Amino acid sequence: MIPRSKKLTRDEAKSHNQRLVLRLIYQHGEFSRADIARASGLTRTTASAVVSELMEQGLVQEIGQGPSAGGKPPTLLQVRPDARHLIGVDLAGTTLEGAVFDLRGRAVHRASVEFDLNRNQDALEQVLDLLDRLVVEASQPLLGIGIGLPGLINSQLGVVYHALSLGWPQLALGDILRQRYQVPVYLVNDSQGAALAEYTFAREENIHDMAVILVAQGVSAGIILNGQLYRGRLHSGASEIGHLRVMEEGFPCVCGHEGCLETIVGERAVLQGARTIYARRPDSALGRLVRRSEEITMATVAEAYRQGDPPVMALGAEMSYYLGIAAANLHAVLNVPRIVLAGGVAGFGDSFAAAVEAQIRERTLPWLADRVKVRPSTLDDDTVELGAAAVLLANELGVV
Ligand SMILES: [Zn+2]
Repeated sequence: MIPRSKKLTRDEAKSHNQRLVLRLIYQHGEFSRADIARASGLTRTTASAVVSELMEQGLVQEIGQGPSAGGKPPTLLQVRPDARHLIGVDLAGTTLEGAVFDLRGRAVHRASVEFDLNRNQDALEQVLDLLDRLVVEASQPLLGIGIGLPGLINSQLGVVYHALSLGWPQLALGDILRQRYQVPVYLVNDSQGAALAEYTFAREENIHDMAVILVAQGVSAGIILNGQLYRGRLHSGASEIGHLRVMEEGFPCVCGHEGCLETIVGERAVLQGARTIYARRPDSALGRLVRRSEEITMATVAEAYRQGDPPVMALGAEMSYYLGIAAANLHAVLNVPRIVLAGGVAGFGDSFAAAVEAQIRERTLPWLADRVKVRPSTLDDDTVELGAAAVLLANELGVV
């Protein structure tokens, strides 16, 4: 932020104008120089000069003429999707995943590595291995690396605190990665990344307030209010709903309490439930899917749920009931019109989301509950990676 009391220096004004113009073109998809002048308040001459600078940097291109409003038809401009590449990484699940994206969030290359803390693997080694493989695949100038990870982090300092699923009590991950790859590096809490991704890449008209519940190994929520990510006061631990106690006398949780939401709907709990179903009912739809793929993943459980496999439907009903309690709490506090389910549960589809929504209606003030819609994420498994990439778009280019 530029302090109001200080006059803009020429360079600052230039950079401010460049970010403003680039953001307008990015957000509108196609925009003319006259549109930019109208929307930004810059003079036509300044707007044209800034466009020329952005074209010289290869960020913006002319894509032909738009409809005439009487006079000469305007030349339309677009942000070149492949002007830069960005790397987004998701360290939230049982597999560490990453992708090289273009500026529109399209994956041009993917990579993943298995990680098992119980087998004494070093998470940092695995992350470096993953990034080494991704960095060489970026064929355009690399804007930077975004890392989405569970746990508490200081995104400004690039320090991770309490990422217990990765075996990191405290780690200056940002510094380590900046030194190794010599590009900007940003860390983002995984559910906050998921919220940014939904808001940036799955944008719904007139929706500027939403909560995104990410179900991975842990369960947490990212919150967008007035189009801005709510970061929370302490170490980006904005909404750790996974440790809400939703069941009296439930299973013990890693946090030291029992009956936490995570012990019922977290990936580990769901896969454990599915393994029990498979052992008892190998003839079920889940059994057939597992024999085909030789393992039980969240994707196979979700597929069995969508096929209506009775024991998996029962498992899903319990999950949606308890997830619904947490969603109702979120809604009661935030009164957001949209709640998005991301991570492993997104694959359970619309009827699962509707069951969560039904719990909100059961548990909150009726005339506010009527306005909330719960939907699954449409970003497939990419939500956290895309969120990490969105942080780069926001910080390095200022376009989101
Ligand atoms: Zn807990």
